[in-house]
Amino acid sequence: MYLYGPVPSRRLGVSLGLDVVPRKTCSLNCVYCQLGPTARPTLERRRFFDPEAFFVELQEKAPHLPPIDYATFSGSGEPMLNADLGGLVRGVKKILHRPVCVITNGTLTTDPAVRRDLAEADLLLPSLDAASQEVFLRVNRPARGLVIADIIAGLAELKRESRGLFHLEILLVRGLNDSEDELSLLRAAVGRIGPDELHLNTVVRPPADSSARPVTPERLNEIAGTFEVRTRIIADYAGPVTRARALDLIAEIEAYLLRRPATTADLAAMLGRDERAVQGALKDLAAEGKVELVHRDGKVFYRRKGNGS
Ligand code: SF4
Repeated sequence: MYLYGPVPSRRLGVSLGLDVVPRKTCSLNCVYCQLGPTARPTLERRRFFDPEAFFVELQEKAPHLPPIDYATFSGSGEPMLNADLGGLVRGVKKILHRPVCVITNGTLTTDPAVRRDLAEADLLLPSLDAASQEVFLRVNRPARGLVIADIIAGLAELKRESRGLFHLEILLVRGLNDSEDELSLLRAAVGRIGPDELHLNTVVRPPADSSARPVTPERLNEIAGTFEVRTRIIADYAGPVTRARALDLIAEIEAYLLRRPATTADLAAMLGRDERAVQGALKDLAAEGKVELVHRDGKVFYRRKGNGS
């Protein structure tokens, strides 16, 4: 299954998810990852499936889709690690005639071939959580050989070469990348990259490393005021009411929880369903042993069993 949703998203309106790498195939092992730890961070781009099978699934689903704002490459890992990404982006545009977004950790943008693939997208949402190598190693725990200075240069090149919008995300983890020294380096990096928008986030869902803590809303607000580009705080879900209706609530919830934990209220908002209906579906999934509860910061999250730590 390569497609999930559509789901509403804070940044994308109604978005059809396109998942093009096996679960947790990633070049990083971020402390805050909501998918759990990466067993072996990798830099190897590979063909994971026949693109034809992907296009067949998309063509079958296309006539039944509600209106979407974006088709979005993200999901269970880093989409840049799919060696067919450029062709997949072009094919999706041809089939859906909708804007395409790629959510990426940006680590392979040092490679001109990767930048060519990404430049085809209408919207790029790369992330950058550190500007010094020391903090990069602590927050993102990268595959061997990745150097943050090179990645910043790659992101600046990508911004220059891409035809679509470029919104950079920084996720702040209390005590790890929110020091004045690191923020000063991040401001310089953002100035060099020149994104159309900067999005600030923090740890709001159960992370891979349970010691990863969020920065406070006040601190996030204060930090947002120090960047010289248009900056939005995206830490809380505040998306529009969804137009998408899940056809099969249990299957949609299951597919969503495979990718990230969520509260009942999150799921109800994302799937455009009544909270009581979502609660009923979660009860069924719990009875089947498919989901488990995680308590964090006074909230109850549901997680697909077997997902991460
Ligand atoms: S947060 Fe994204 S980039 Fe970081 S480990 Fe998870 S999937 Fe990879």
